[in-house]
Amino acid sequence: MMEEVFDVAIIGGSFSGISAALFLANAMRKVVIIDDKQPRNKDADVAFNLPTYNQKDARVWLQCANEELDQFPKVSRVEDEVVSIAKEQACFTLSLKSHKKLTSKKIIFATGVKDILPNIQGISRFWPQNIFHCPYCIAYKLQNEALAIYSTIEEAYQMALIICKWTDKLTVLTDGHNPLTTDQYQHLQSLGISVVDTPIHYLDGIVGEKIEVDFNSGENQSFRGVFMHLDFELKAKTLIQSLGCKITENKLVEINSEYQTTIEGVYAIGDITTMVQKLTTAIASGTEAAFFLDHTLSFEYG
Ligand SMILES: Cc1cc2nc3c(=O)[nH]c(=O)nc-3n(C[C@H](O)[C@H](O)[C@H](O)COP(=O)(O)OP(=O)(O)OC[C@H]3O[C@@H](n4cnc5c(N)ncnc54)[C@H](O)[C@@H]3O)c2cc1C
Repeated sequence: MMEEVFDVAIIGGSFSGISAALFLANAMRKVVIIDDKQPRNKDADVAFNLPTYNQKDARVWLQCANEELDQFPKVSRVEDEVVSIAKEQACFTLSLKSHKKLTSKKIIFATGVKDILPNIQGISRFWPQNIFHCPYCIAYKLQNEALAIYSTIEEAYQMALIICKWTDKLTVLTDGHNPLTTDQYQHLQSLGISVVDTPIHYLDGIVGEKIEVDFNSGENQSFRGVFMHLDFELKAKTLIQSLGCKITENKLVEINSEYQTTIEGVYAIGDITTMVQKLTTAIASGTEAAFFLDHTLSFEYG
């Protein structure tokens, strides 16, 4: 029996991967999507800035998009994890956790990133219901609530200027690091924004309702939410690097204007390729990459 060869294997079936798959499906391509169901925003109850789904559950959007893909006879969806990839002649062989193997002419990495929380005692249970990394993804719903910004660097000042649009009850927590200049400190004060430089001992409260910040001084303050810049890492970094794809200084996968990585036939889309990590940018990148990929396949294979 002849081995089944897919035109494209898409690793990651979330916002970017699904959008690439839909475009390729409409272009008559034989596509397989392998996804282990851990989209970055899986614990967020509502999404913002997703047209027709603003303040709605993005998990339902994903489900509908998958149901659409299931209508295409040339599209296969596999719930599994890709654990290794080998380049053999003109094709790639993907090995899955279930020991299954798949072969494709091209690969798209749509594997997303993992957020890394800072080392503050008690923080993990409040993510992402009271600890937030992006104001554009929640703040509209938190208007005029008591909010805080946690930052130990000068970025605290810029974050305060952005977030003060949504509330006049804003506090900057610098955890004992005092990163602001006197001018910045005075400017924030003139805007009614408090700055607390006391080191933080631990976080307590009721998940989804309030987060209580307990300071080393014995004092505490309650907030509906705390915004902070989070570090991130590529979820599939080892896999991506195993093929020789270059990673940039910003920890992203290096791509050209057609979304091809530094390795021929290997493409990357979504959060792993941009600092503007949003649902719609992920969706758009999937469409763009699929457009170029279909052209390349047409020229190479007819
Ligand atoms: C709490 C939170 C709330 C957010 N809210 C918003 C919002 O309101 N609006 C907005 O625009 N953006 C929001 N975002 C950002 C948004 O979630 C991301 O931009 C978007 O999910 C990126 O899509 P993606 O396809 O690149 O990656 P992801 O959605 O992270 O999907 C990657 C997929 O690849 C799979 N995968 C990874 N490695 C493998 C492997 N080896 N084998 C198989 N599958 C694999 C993962 O399981 C996952 O399903 C939010 C993010 C967070 C953390």
